[in-house]
Amino acid sequence: MPKSREKAGFAAQRDPSTPDRITTSAGLVTIRGAGRTQPEPQPPLDQYFNSLFTALGPQHWWPGDTPFEVIVGTILTQNTSWTNVELALVNLRGEDLLTLDGIERVNQRHLANLLRPAGYFRQKARKLKAFVKFLRAEYAGSLRRMFKTPTLELREKLLGVWGVGPETADSILLYAGEQPVFVVDAYTKRLFSRHGWTGEKAKYEDIRWMVERQFPGNVRRFNELHALIVNAGKNWCRPKDPKCGECPLGRYLEEGR
Ligand code: SF4
Repeated sequence: MPKSREKAGFAAQRDPSTPDRITTSAGLVTIRGAGRTQPEPQPPLDQYFNSLFTALGPQHWWPGDTPFEVIVGTILTQNTSWTNVELALVNLRGEDLLTLDGIERVNQRHLANLLRPAGYFRQKARKLKAFVKFLRAEYAGSLRRMFKTPTLELREKLLGVWGVGPETADSILLYAGEQPVFVVDAYTKRLFSRHGWTGEKAKYEDIRWMVERQFPGNVRRFNELHALIVNAGKNWCRPKDPKCGECPLGRYLEEGR
């Protein structure tokens, strides 16, 4: 497993996607250009985490025997359930294709057929091909070398790969590379919006920043918190008819802005 890590707080403080903001040791936010420093209300994420962890326990994310398998999973899980992804992974494993060499050598049409259970299978075959081409070209096929790249530089590069958006890039960085980024998904957006901390159309990078600034550099916390939020989203915080009365986060509903 790659061990390259950013120093605590680096990713959050230097993120070019939020260039107008820096945190101070006092936990304040400076809005560059505005000429002032102002406190910003923040969700009590430590309490959210403790409540969810107490209720749900460790989530052991991300399932996968190798970092490469994790990356394949992050791409296949786009717009589908993990159950469907598992079926596709079984197909790949059955033909010994769940490796860089395997994805490189398999015919794209055949690959698409194997990925059929995961949906959008032609696109996903193309995406896997694009990723392995990138890995081979940029890092001689070495994930170890890839994850030695500074986090934000690698994030930008991943976002340049066809089919890799912010959620997939951050999942790769966090779950395959153990790098300090937080993954934002539909579950996360829904939860923070319902608790009043963000608008329904909040930007991905704003939500990521809101979490990363509270736990700078804390890979384990980002890993577990995201997994817990997904679990909460499936159990209680459903798109319709959320079960707030049963949810461990129900007690925090009134604290949002
Ligand atoms: S179900 Fe209710 S209490 Fe639980 S996370 Fe969603 S909005 Fe919050």
